[in-house]
Amino acid sequence: MPDKITANPDGSLNVTDEPIVPFIEGDGTGVDIWPAARLVLDAAAAKHGRTVSWKEVLAGQKAFDETGDWLPQETVDTFQEYLIGIKGPLTTPIGGGFRSLNVALRQILDLYVCLRPVRWFEGVPSPVRTPELVDMVIFRENTEDIYAGLEVAAGSPEAAKLRDLLHDSFGWEIRDDSGIGIKPISETGSKRLIRAALNYAVAKGRESVNLVHKGNIMKFTEGAFKNWGYELVRDEFSDVAVGWDDCGGDPGGKVLVKDSIADITLQQVLTRPAEFDVMATMNLNGDYLSDALAAQVGGIGIAPGANVNYVTGHGIFEATHGTAPKYAGQDKVNPGSVLLSGVLMYEHLGWQDAADDIVAALEATIADKIVTYDFARLMDGATEVKCSEFASAIVDRL
Ligand code: NAP
Repeated sequence: MPDKITANPDGSLNVTDEPIVPFIEGDGTGVDIWPAARLVLDAAAAKHGRTVSWKEVLAGQKAFDETGDWLPQETVDTFQEYLIGIKGPLTTPIGGGFRSLNVALRQILDLYVCLRPVRWFEGVPSPVRTPELVDMVIFRENTEDIYAGLEVAAGSPEAAKLRDLLHDSFGWEIRDDSGIGIKPISETGSKRLIRAALNYAVAKGRESVNLVHKGNIMKFTEGAFKNWGYELVRDEFSDVAVGWDDCGGDPGGKVLVKDSIADITLQQVLTRPAEFDVMATMNLNGDYLSDALAAQVGGIGIAPGANVNYVTGHGIFEATHGTAPKYAGQDKVNPGSVLLSGVLMYEHLGWQDAADDIVAALEATIADKIVTYDFARLMDGATEVKCSEFASAIVDRL
């Protein structure tokens, strides 16, 4: 009998061998990559005596065509109720009332962590010389920062009003022709994000958590994020983690919590990747860092992601690339991003065995140089296969 996944008061999940998981197929190439990923996910689960009972929900173009609504309430309600879901890419409706359907889902479910593991898979073409040293997990804050959408346009009455207020109350001089954005960074938002990163690092036996910030310039937002992080370590994690300043860089078996300035971090993840492990950062830094790192290990065709609320237990796992409309329906693109998001979901559900099997089979397929077009064009002697054929080849190696 298929069962609902439920959450305990501490946010941990109760998952049976037959959980019901809602999915959004996704627009554009969603029709290609979702069935391919599902084939592999189902085969890996079956190998361990488990079955996912997939429940389709609509969003994006398909939802609009069928219901006249880009994000039907039923879809939101289903994710609310079933806690864990997975999605393909969605077209962002132009003038549809949402800035982005992805952002809307994150906000409605308060999915405050954007989780992006970045590691290299043997054989994947990479622009760097030692991609095998890249094994990082980014925890990006998902709800605050200049992504909060608190902006007024240059020349607008709102901008004039805000400029006057800032001048009269603080004596701040802002040029007349300025657009203005607000960057809120709260103790609540920072600590819950960093708490999630620390819990992850401890659970997975990771060595360090790096707080990435630009606090030398933005002292009361990014600097505060760093300070709240170290405070959290002392207050809640002192038995398992320690801040750099509190141990002189020698954590003695505990998780080492350190911090680094965002600009030098973007350089050092490239030049000294082995020094970085779990990274916790704010919304904008996290966005840049995720894509820069994804490029080092083979690009967006295989970059997975998840949006999680560790308190309520909600999580939506998603392909990080877009709908690539020019390839839609051609059975061509790489299903790796949504497949590896499924792997991340299996790990989250406690199905580490099935997750490991998929990763091993994916690596074996790439090692045999059986790849989709995006990798084939960068590899010598590769056999280019269709999206669905790539999935079948992975299943053959499970
Ligand atoms: P995109 O869909 O990510 O495509 C950009 C390029 O990335 C493609 O032309 C292709 O590169 C490569 N690519 C994308 N998916 C791939 C895959 N599965 N395998 C291999 N390569 C892949 O970005 P876009 O064209 O800027 O955006 C199209 C639509 O997607 C927009 O409506 C946008 O709003 C939406 N979008 C949605 C999400 C989401 O749902 N999470 C995220 C981003 C964008 P080559 O041309 O080099 O082959």
